[in-house]
Amino acid sequence: MSNLSAFNQFSRSLPAEGFTMPVLFIGHGSPMNGIEENEFSKTWTAMANSIPIPKAVLVVSAHWLTRGTHITAMEHPRTIHDFGGFPDELFKVQYPAPGDPQLAIDTVQMVKTVSVGLDHEWGLDHGTWTVVRHMFPDANIPVLQLSIDYGKEARYHYELAREISALRKKGVLIIGSGNMVHNLRMVAWDKLGEPEYGYDWALHINEEFKRLISAGTHDLLVNYSAMGKEALLAIPTPDHYYPLLYILGLQQKSEPIAFFNDRAVGGSLTMTSVRIG
Ligand code: ZN
Repeated sequence: MSNLSAFNQFSRSLPAEGFTMPVLFIGHGSPMNGIEENEFSKTWTAMANSIPIPKAVLVVSAHWLTRGTHITAMEHPRTIHDFGGFPDELFKVQYPAPGDPQLAIDTVQMVKTVSVGLDHEWGLDHGTWTVVRHMFPDANIPVLQLSIDYGKEARYHYELAREISALRKKGVLIIGSGNMVHNLRMVAWDKLGEPEYGYDWALHINEEFKRLISAGTHDLLVNYSAMGKEALLAIPTPDHYYPLLYILGLQQKSEPIAFFNDRAVGGSLTMTSVRIG
């Protein structure tokens, strides 16, 4: 938490002309974080309070995997309850933030290397709303999602992000929502309630990811499969990792980097999150 206080001077003001919005990678973890006031969700709230009020929020969620890249373009995105086995209370949550169809069109026009589709079907999945409702509880800021083309390799996502970096200067807060270390098959379900529990390999690769992010060594992070066994345990499938590559792709030279919610849960998950800018 202490490293957040340095950013507090921007608290709840509109971004100044020419201000470059920070970008965030957020480890979203369990959908229950969407309704719990815990150390993770409280930090999401604090993070939002340390950033100028965005014109819109664009989220790359681990839970929207598609063929081709799409952006939500509806006026009123629905709240998607894309999970099972959770309490009714979680299924009852609605997050009625508006969309921003014009911003969707503007974003499509920024991308020159591929054709990004305008989507009118999706909405806000739990990778988005469980986090964003803690950041902007009034649901009065437009929220859009950009999908992950799951047929593409890691570098595609990193490079695609570069093409939309101009959004940062337009007051758009871009969030990648996933988890750096995310191996559900190996989760110690009986240990999930503990405040911190990580397998040695998970803690080790989490530190290595942080070291590479701090050093700006993006090539290795993009080629994560060459990082060895621990990286492959952390990323058995890349859905929760690709959102991080979007955030790294948006990084500009000499930007400050801060980590938050840097905790392992359930052995094989980390909530480690990154703010750039
Ligand atoms: Zn998830």
